[in-house]
Amino acid sequence: MLHHTKISFKKFALELNRINNLYMKILIIGGVAGGATAATRLRRLNEENEIIIFEKGEHVSFANCGLPYHIGGVITKRSKLLLQTPTSLKTRFNLDVRIFNEVLKINKEEKTVEVRNLITKEIYTESYDKLLLSPGAEPFRPNIPGIESDKIMTLRNVADMDRIISKTKDLKNIAVVGGGFIGLEVAENLVENGLNVSVIELGNQVMAPVDYEFAKMVERHAEIRNLNILINTGVEAFQEKGDEIELKLNTGETIVADAVVFAIGVKPENALAKAAELDLGITGGIAVNEFMQTSDPNIYAVGDAVEVSHFINQVKVLIPLAWPANRQGRIVADNMVRGNKISYKGTLGTSIIKFFDLTVGATGLNEKLLKRYNIPYQTTTVTRANHASYYPGATNIVLKINFGKDGTIYGAQALGHEGVDKRIDIIATAIKGNLTVYDLQEIEIAYAPPYNSAKDPVNILGYVAENMLNGDLEAVNYDELDALLSNKDTILVDVRTEKEFEKGSIPNAINLDLDTIRQNLDFFDKNKTYVIYCQVGLRGYLAHAILRNNNIKSVNLNGGYSIWKSANNEKANPVLV
Ligand code: FAD
Repeated sequence: MLHHTKISFKKFALELNRINNLYMKILIIGGVAGGATAATRLRRLNEENEIIIFEKGEHVSFANCGLPYHIGGVITKRSKLLLQTPTSLKTRFNLDVRIFNEVLKINKEEKTVEVRNLITKEIYTESYDKLLLSPGAEPFRPNIPGIESDKIMTLRNVADMDRIISKTKDLKNIAVVGGGFIGLEVAENLVENGLNVSVIELGNQVMAPVDYEFAKMVERHAEIRNLNILINTGVEAFQEKGDEIELKLNTGETIVADAVVFAIGVKPENALAKAAELDLGITGGIAVNEFMQTSDPNIYAVGDAVEVSHFINQVKVLIPLAWPANRQGRIVADNMVRGNKISYKGTLGTSIIKFFDLTVGATGLNEKLLKRYNIPYQTTTVTRANHASYYPGATNIVLKINFGKDGTIYGAQALGHEGVDKRIDIIATAIKGNLTVYDLQEIEIAYAPPYNSAKDPVNILGYVAENMLNGDLEAVNYDELDALLSNKDTILVDVRTEKEFEKGSIPNAINLDLDTIRQNLDFFDKNKTYVIYCQVGLRGYLAHAILRNNNIKSVNLNGGYSIWKSANNEKANPVLV
């Protein structure tokens, strides 16, 4: 009895504090990346606030990004994916975590939410001072005939992962629809499990954040790893046939699989916000201001469910990634408790994927997006070793940067075996710090032969970009080559060795080894233009410099033969195999 009185008194004191604005009741919808981050920060900022997390699923704060790796057995223990539990969040952070509790409705005028306990089916109301929406995004499932088959699975949470593991355990042939990050990660892990996997991708390339020529290198790598990728291919219908499922493709073909993983992208969970008449953005994401506040000042929203401004050009976009959700979660906690002081600066879309023994990373705007947004740009691609090439184990990184006339960095992409993450992170940092391509030359890297070269590939990008901007280097991209060569006064010269040339070259090229150019200057006609290429662009640049210094007009093929070859879908990738 005494104990009960004590609790009531505490509650009364809290309510008094709440009335006096010294205490807040904060509700959070969604208990994973954005929601859990906000909740724990909210607690660190204030001991008194009442914080309730509603999570409709079984787990909070689980590692969504780790799910594909438990499917492939790389993360052996399932429990490692469960970073927190309701109990651990209660014990350490005094959070009231209600799993299997789905928020059905927001009454923004009364500042209440309606919640259904999915176990007891009870529906109850909870009031709030501040509400955070972090409901994420759900896998997109278009209305394709047969899509309701239970042989078709998606991957969003632990339950989905368990289902994929148990359902694919004794199977042989899996079709993965969608060649984005989740599709490729699942496909890779299923291949590692010994299954025959086909990825079906509607677009002309996998992995939308990178440009075509990078995607072709990824597709080539898939082939080497016995992962079948069908591009320019859509599924028109699914039909169960006994133990199998048939996929009718838009190419007129059909393929048969034992199960399908459907991963064509996600759409923001905006239903609650929409029903509450909160503003939605043009993309369908929940509209928020720079403080992550929705059109109702007492309701904030973060993560995959919100529309963000792209960091580069402030265009409204959906970028469903874990870093933005975590960053926004922290910002919201601060803004709720301390007043709107911290702005979210926009999302750059920095992303990375392990694809077998390759790593592919990207940040900012790729060429496709720069074209779509009508932003004039230049681009260069270099291929360099990840560390001193004389130190054992060096492997190549292909690194591309897109930049403006004033040196503004718009975006970068990288592909290689090791060191891709470091380069992409450096460039992402440079972009967020408003550095230009000129500043990339000044990035003073940690160097010893096992880790780097004294000139990092990022420094090299800075040097090449500067050469291009000040006119020391004129470059042409693989996709501009045909138009340039259609002029009869343009001649294609391969400056690699004879041996390299014989192994494969661009049609109609003349071979003139770089080291013989000074002796063969008579060959060059000052009234013609020479397109120079080598394997990756460096020797081409050296030849270009010799010709320029002798008043012979030339341009260097950006990225060299290897990029041309990847983009032309030829069957080898000499950079990476
Ligand atoms: P989530 O983390 O999805 O959390 C939303 C939660 O809200 C869900 O658990 C949902 O059940 C709950 N919820 C929704 N509606 C309600 C409701 N009405 N009531 C109660 N609860 C509700 N990103 C990366 O940057 N790198 C990666 O490598 C990466 N890999 C990924 C791999 C997979 C398989 C998946 C699925 C995602 C991956 N992501 C990755 C994306 C990343 O996980 C998300 O961007 C991030 O989790 C978004 O955080 P969020 O808080 O917005 O949503």
